[in-house]
Amino acid sequence: MKENVKASGRVVFALGNLLKVAFEGRVTQGEVAVVRIRGGFLKAEVIEVEGSIAKIQVFEDTSGVQLDTPVEFSDELLEIELGPGLLGEIFDGLQNPLEKVALRTGLFLERGVYIPALDREKVWLFNPSANPGDTVRRGDTLGTTRESHFDHRIMVPFKLYGTYTVESIEKAGSYTIDKTVAILKNEVGERFEVQMLQKWPIKFPLIEGNKMRPEEMMTTGMRIIDTMIPIAKGGTGCNPGPFGAGKTVTQQIVAKYSNVDIVVLTACGERAGEVVEVLKTFPELQDVFTNEPLMHRTTIICNTSSMPVAARESSVYVGMTIGEYYRQMGLDVLVLADSTSRWAQAMREMSGRLEEIPGEEAFPAYLASRIAAFYERAGLVLLRDGKKGSLTVIVAVSPSGGNIMGDPVSRATMSIVGAFICLSREYSDARRYPAIDPLKSWSKYRSIAARTLSEKESDWGEWIKKADSILARGEEVGRRMEVVGQEGTSMDDYLTYLLSELFSFSYLQQNGFDKEDVYASIDKQVEMFKLINTVFAVPFQFEDKDKAKTFFLELQNKIKNLNYVPQSSEPYMKMYEEVMHTIDRARVEIGG
Ligand code: ADP
Ligand code: MG
Repeated sequence: MKENVKASGRVVFALGNLLKVAFEGRVTQGEVAVVRIRGGFLKAEVIEVEGSIAKIQVFEDTSGVQLDTPVEFSDELLEIELGPGLLGEIFDGLQNPLEKVALRTGLFLERGVYIPALDREKVWLFNPSANPGDTVRRGDTLGTTRESHFDHRIMVPFKLYGTYTVESIEKAGSYTIDKTVAILKNEVGERFEVQMLQKWPIKFPLIEGNKMRPEEMMTTGMRIIDTMIPIAKGGTGCNPGPFGAGKTVTQQIVAKYSNVDIVVLTACGERAGEVVEVLKTFPELQDVFTNEPLMHRTTIICNTSSMPVAARESSVYVGMTIGEYYRQMGLDVLVLADSTSRWAQAMREMSGRLEEIPGEEAFPAYLASRIAAFYERAGLVLLRDGKKGSLTVIVAVSPSGGNIMGDPVSRATMSIVGAFICLSREYSDARRYPAIDPLKSWSKYRSIAARTLSEKESDWGEWIKKADSILARGEEVGRRMEVVGQEGTSMDDYLTYLLSELFSFSYLQQNGFDKEDVYASIDKQVEMFKLINTVFAVPFQFEDKDKAKTFFLELQNKIKNLNYVPQSSEPYMKMYEEVMHTIDRARVEIGG
């Protein structure tokens, strides 16, 4: 039974961006409401309904809202637009296209300005692939259009559950996204017009097909991640760390160099200038894999400084929903969010205003379940046509005071993700970048990565074990040495320490600002890691610790320099030979 009259009401109470509205009619949780202010309107979401009072969260500054301000309810959930034209676009947390907004109102969003997310005038070349009479279901491909270098599938709208027959479909041609390209009929003869544009509510997972366990590695070009803390396509990861440790730099490197088709970058911005920085730099970057502008395969969701916390909550869902939509096309998608702590803070503020019983650190009791539900939207999906699509999620977390274990958001995140990439103050203070602590970090995807990597190098598994053990023992010796000094340390222990330092300095550390070092291909990583393991296998013997130290400094610098030149280039070959020569020299001195 459909009600034709939408509910409406009046503001009876306001606290920050929480309004209580006395209404008449029917209002549902999650529905979008519109607050009428002088000269415009503000968007809001219904978060609670109690009798004839709705509590709504306004996405913008609420100054000017008064008692009795009229509110209309839309009877629609908070949705976004999906269709060709998402790639290359920069949206805010409510999917306003920022560039168009800027043209209209200056750099930052004016209150109450909403512009359709996707261009209604642009035409796209539609190529039908279904035929009249075909039986189709949600997510099935009706045709395609070319969006940058992808075949963007025009799919049966995900809101249409059940079985449909294609009644008619447009011929190949150029159409705008709101033009009807197909008409579907359900079993009782109801007709549905399908456009290239469809909508989906952001808080509900968009998925059709079967979820599978991740089975393939996602490479990032960051040696410490790919080798020690690998990520799987369809997997989840988080990179928590204190302020200034390198979360944003890490997220941006991963955004640029991961071997995925599409990247959705959600920038919530801790510092005001950070978001502007993303807006300026990303459009200028080239994709290392295709040599095209990186933006051709990227969508950015950015929260502008004028938007209150409530919009930050929606932005992570907007990013996730866009990611899910492209996954349904059989593509590999990576969704990044920097950082989710802002999202959790939005939840905390709202929960406080709602006077809910607070959990730890005043976060709502449902914090952990919200976080878990968010990550559960990631995954590898077997589509009905046999293709696979993946959605990988990596999220930065910024615990207050930098204390990861004491932070409810970090802990809830850790308990659900498959890879924990832990940034540490100790490393960043020592300028050991990326400041990822390999001993505190972990990944459940190591066996998946080992499968890929042992195809290239059968000893990979053994090498990793060796590296793990040298790092752990090296750190232990290093800490002990702080107390007992070099003299109090045995030669054997000292050598282990030097080996772990060499591994850390010349392999795990990587300069995110050097154009060559920032990205290491898997082939180069395998070759370099082999070199490291060659060093690990030498039965070094030195007369004294100073000699050992001098030798290792020389060797580790020589190995490190290989990172700054392209693999197989002439200088690389020469430098590589020199490294081997240095290792041999040590062997000769030992008399081996
Ligand atoms: P966070 O987001 O954790 O607050 P940022 O990512 O902004 O920290 O990093 C802070 C600074 O640390 C950067 O401006 C840069 O100078 C340095 N840094 C971080 N990661 C790297 C890296 N991989 N290589 C070189 N420098 C880095
Ligand atoms: Mg940051």
